[in-house]
Amino acid sequence: MIHDLHSHSLASDGTLSPRDLVARAAAAGVQVLALTDHDETAGIAEAEQAAAELGIRLVSGVEVSVTWERMTIHVVGLNIDPEHPVLNAGLERLRVYRDWRAEEIGRRLAKHGVRDAHAGARAFARGRIVSRTHFAHYLVSQGFGRDTRAVFQHFLRRNKPGHVPGEWAGLEEAVGWIRVAGGIAVVAHPARYDLSATKLRRLLAEFMACGGEALEVVSGSHSRDDNETMAAHARRTGLLASAGSDFHGPENPWVELGRLPELPVGCLPVWESEAWTRCPPSAAEAVLRTPAYL
Ligand code: AMP
Ligand code: MN
Ligand code: MN
Ligand code: MN
Repeated sequence: MIHDLHSHSLASDGTLSPRDLVARAAAAGVQVLALTDHDETAGIAEAEQAAAELGIRLVSGVEVSVTWERMTIHVVGLNIDPEHPVLNAGLERLRVYRDWRAEEIGRRLAKHGVRDAHAGARAFARGRIVSRTHFAHYLVSQGFGRDTRAVFQHFLRRNKPGHVPGEWAGLEEAVGWIRVAGGIAVVAHPARYDLSATKLRRLLAEFMACGGEALEVVSGSHSRDDNETMAAHARRTGLLASAGSDFHGPENPWVELGRLPELPVGCLPVWESEAWTRCPPSAAEAVLRTPAYL
């Protein structure tokens, strides 16, 4: 069975509609696909419909932006109830912050000679959430760099003119929203944060203390060595192992749906765990069980 448990659609910064994404996954032989848009669940209904028609399983997911020790960390939620009111209130707060941040990025870029960046990014976002990816598409369209990687490097990364330090969800909040919506929380692409081994151990310990259950051991944005390193962390901590391409669209030829190496030996795949088949609580039950800090 081919599982791909991390992907994006037009509902966030992907370039395919949920339907086209699912069709591409099915054509690539993926049998279980998770749609995990940034801070947004709006694409899931369409993806589920397409998956039912094409005979593959769609896992409803989300990728929550988190600020931890002043860094941005991504926490994927799998098997969430996309309608859950507590989860949705949390994501809505992040989207409000995201809108303010987009205006602020526009103001900062304007001081560095980039005109109309906010309007430009919004045009690329087509009415959905505005991500730095949309600013990157605008900057490339205006000739500020050859590709998105180049404009991220010069304008959008930390310490660059268009960078705004994140004020996303707390780790405990993000994991709490996911858990209360019946999902499994996964630390996404852990090798991407450039954390020292000590700091990564601290992140994983805090994550588990909050109720986090899995680590994205295999990612489309990891090297083979990264996968092995993260497998060792999964084995050491007992975290379940997930695998996802982090596909954003066909224009990025390095990442394709379903083309992932096997999970290293000794990891327990999240899809073979007991948590995977846990019955999601009813919305009413979940609200009753919501801790006060959420
Ligand atoms: P945001 O959540 O708006 O801060 O945007 C983060 C998104 O930007 C990530 O999910 C990636 O899709 C994209 N991204 C981040 N860094 C890079 C990079 N160096 N090159 C290309 N895309 C990037
Ligand atoms: Mn993205
Ligand atoms: Mn991410
Ligand atoms: Mn992602």
